[in-house]
Amino acid sequence: MPRHRLLLRGATVVTMNPGREVLAGDVLVEDDRIVDVAPKIRATRVDELRLLPDTLLIPGLVQPHIHLCQTLFRGRADGLELLDWLRERIWPFEAAHTPESLYVSAMLGGVELLRSGTTAILDMATVRHTEAVFQAAKKLGIRATIGKALMDKGQGVPRNLKDTTQDALAESLALAERWHGAENGRLRYAFAPRFVLSCTEELMRAVAREARARGLGIHTHASENAGEIEAVREASGLDNVSFLRELGCVGHDTVLAHCVWLTSEEQKILRETGTHVAHCPSSNLKLASGVAKIPELLAMGINVGIAADGAPCINTLDGFLELRLAALIQGPRSGPGALSSEKAFELATLGGARALGLADQIGSIEVGKKADLVAIDLRAAHLTPMADVYSTLVYGVRGSDVANVWVDGVERVRNGRVRGVKLPSLRAEAERHASRIAAETARV
Ligand SMILES: [Zn+2]
Repeated sequence: MPRHRLLLRGATVVTMNPGREVLAGDVLVEDDRIVDVAPKIRATRVDELRLLPDTLLIPGLVQPHIHLCQTLFRGRADGLELLDWLRERIWPFEAAHTPESLYVSAMLGGVELLRSGTTAILDMATVRHTEAVFQAAKKLGIRATIGKALMDKGQGVPRNLKDTTQDALAESLALAERWHGAENGRLRYAFAPRFVLSCTEELMRAVAREARARGLGIHTHASENAGEIEAVREASGLDNVSFLRELGCVGHDTVLAHCVWLTSEEQKILRETGTHVAHCPSSNLKLASGVAKIPELLAMGINVGIAADGAPCINTLDGFLELRLAALIQGPRSGPGALSSEKAFELATLGGARALGLADQIGSIEVGKKADLVAIDLRAAHLTPMADVYSTLVYGVRGSDVANVWVDGVERVRNGRVRGVKLPSLRAEAERHASRIAAETARV
């Protein structure tokens, strides 16, 4: 079977390889893999040649904490702190999803992510209909590790968002069986206990056991909000991350979203266990949660990725906005340059890749890695002149500057349009389902 050879010519290539090389040159892709990166590639056979002048070619952004299920709730949960935000708005909204509305929500979020240069995500779905999120990710071609949200206890949880412990586990395992490794390995499964306040100890321990037995990841929220950690202390007598360690839910295979409120003991647990942190700066501001101490975590050697969380947390899923804010937000606390632009860009690419357990596959432009690539059009006033690529990428580039996106070597965005998606009809569907959910939940 002849392989498809794609030659991307004449871009400024931000490789993120160990030497952090930036070169004016070419990238050769064979099917889903990068097979050469060099100043001038003289390929003997090329099926497709793309000239990319005035272009930054970067590894696709990796966002290790997203809720595609919440995209339809954009702008409908403003002005609340975490626990009220969940009980008053997000849980009732999620409970009102049908498979159809969830599919539209995931399609809309996925289109926004791809269009703005994110090629891989770790997604926490809702409790029901997780199949619909996988179907949307399959259709869009985005690289996605997805998990059904696990909830078998909790105050203020709508009835149909609460599973029995057995059902929560059984459905997770069935989804993992069906989807983990599907679509050339693009789709994967991770257990997603929502947070310790919504899960019994029995469920958390079973998740740790089953995840390890199957080599699957664990994805949960931790220490986002002061009220949340207080509630965890009341319930367990322990700090949140200490409790997670007690339950077995920390480790190289685990991603904790937020980690705003950590004791120094909990920071040590993250370091000792190799647990990953998903930093969501916009969400932490909008929900008035706080500012995560990212420079301190990095100095300890803890891996951090950057993510937008969900649309009701911050309205947009543009990874470049999160990247910019992540770099800016530490300044008042720790001084200018506390998180350098090069380091911030590393978190948005390799940091996310490590969190997903995919650092050998994605996160940089290197021979042998997957061709998850993003072309940024530099012909804009706000990107001119370009003194430093990392400064440009972190502070200047917006998702709307993305011109082309390839995932697994397949072009998913061309000239700023997601291929195979009719945006006007998707938008109409989204408006219709969002209105229906808002009306239904207003009656309750
Ligand atoms: Zn979240």
